[in-house]
Amino acid sequence: MSIQRTLSIIKPDATRRNLTRVINEHLKRSGLKVVAQKRLLLTKAQAAKFYEVHAERPFFSELCEYMTSGQVVVQVLQAEDAVSLNRKVMGATNPEEAEAGSIRAEYALNITENSVHGSDSLENARIEIAFFFAEFELVV
Ligand code: GDP
Repeated sequence: MSIQRTLSIIKPDATRRNLTRVINEHLKRSGLKVVAQKRLLLTKAQAAKFYEVHAERPFFSELCEYMTSGQVVVQVLQAEDAVSLNRKVMGATNPEEAEAGSIRAEYALNITENSVHGSDSLENARIEIAFFFAEFELVV
């Protein structure tokens, strides 16, 4: 195990309900340190690029609509084994299958509006962090 960084997004359903602070407290309690953070309104092109691996999936346009429907908070989390730790703290994609006490079990509305994103591998974490943050924003 080693200290890793992972990309997290607090999605529009959560920012709309003012859950940024409680989700950040949940992350902190779970050992994930927020080392960079900013609030954005994504364009359709940015959302489509970020989720391009899902371009052929039936839910792709719904996903892009949703991700541009309100503000998101993009953040870099740091911890020992941060990528898999954050996936565990987030819970399963479908909140009905998410482990009790996980962020999605507590706050997600449905499989699309599931409150948070987290990188699914260390390689994707590097790509996703670089998508949203310049090197000079990662100073911790
Ligand atoms: P994640 O890594 O757990 O976020 O899941 P994925 O990478 O598979 O999917 C990306 C996002 O697309 C999810 O977080 C959901 O917002 C949405 N999504 C995934 N699967 C479905 C689905 O079957 N139906 C719908 N409507 N949305 C989905």
